[in-house]
Amino acid sequence: MNYILFGMQGSGKGTQSKYLAEHLNLEVFETGEALRSLAEEGSELGNKVKAIMESGNLVPIEVVMEIIENFLTNLPEGKSVLFDGIPRSKEQQKNFDILMKKKGMDFTAILIEISEEEAIRRLTNRRICSKCKTVFPATYKENRCKDCDSELISRSDDTPNAIRIRLNNFTKKTMPVIEDYKSKGKIISINGEQSIEAVRDEMLSKIN
Ligand code: AMP
Repeated sequence: MNYILFGMQGSGKGTQSKYLAEHLNLEVFETGEALRSLAEEGSELGNKVKAIMESGNLVPIEVVMEIIENFLTNLPEGKSVLFDGIPRSKEQQKNFDILMKKKGMDFTAILIEISEEEAIRRLTNRRICSKCKTVFPATYKENRCKDCDSELISRSDDTPNAIRIRLNNFTKKTMPVIEDYKSKGKIISINGEQSIEAVRDEMLSKIN
C-alpha cells in the first residue's frame, strides 16, 4: 500500500515519515525536500523556487508535478511510496489522482492533527540540522545535531510572515483536499499533540 501523510506544518510529518518508511519499507517522496534541493541548485528555476519557498507560498504546479513524475518513473518496480507534502490543493489533487491511477497505485491518507496555536508554537521554536535536516524542538538545548554533529539552524521559511502564509495555505488550500479524501473514506486521523512515540504507535495500530 502507498500512503500520503497530511498535517499542518509543524505536525511532525517529517519525523513520522522517517519512521514509517523504515518500518514499512517505503520510499519517501518529500515534496518540500525535493524543492529545497532544486532551490539550492543555483539555476534560474532554482532561484525562482527558492524565493517562492521563502515567502511561504506554493511553488507552481507544473514544477511540482514534473518532480513527482520523475520520481515515480525512477521508482524501483514493486516499491511502495510514502508521499509527504502533496497534494496541497484541489488542482494538485486532480493531477495527483490521475497520475496515481495511471501508475496503478492505490493509497491511504494519514492526517496528523494539531491545532494552529500548537503549530505556531512549534514552528517558531524549532531548529533543523544544516546537514541531515533532522528537526529539533525547543526542548533540545544543544547547538549541534545529535546524529551528525553539524550546526543547527532555523529554516529560512520559519519566519513569522512565512509561517502565517503557510498555515493559511494549509487551511484554505489543503484542508479541502483532506475533506474530499475523508468523504471517500481514505483518511486515517491521528492525534498529533502527543509524544512522538505515542503518535507513531497510534499510526501503526490504525494502519494495521
Ligand atoms: P514543507 O517542507 O512541506 O513545509 O514545504 C516547504 C515549502 O515548499 C512550502 O511552503 C512550499 O513553498 C513548497 N512546497 C512543498 N510542497 C509543495 C506542493 N505540493 N506544492 C507547491 N509547493 C510546495
